[in-house]
Amino acid sequence: MLSIVEFFKNLPRKKCHNCGKEILEKADCYGNLCDHCDHPAR
Ligand SMILES: [Zn+2]
Repeated sequence: MLSIVEFFKNLPRKKCHNCGKEILEKADCYGNLCDHCDHPAR
């Protein structure tokens, strides 16, 4: 049996498609851009 922690550890890290940086602070799916690249003022 897997605990919830093990479940999340097995998830692949999302990476920004623009700069390749790992997206850590966004659990929601806003696409595949980090906060920096996804800035609306860009
Ligand atoms: Zn980025």
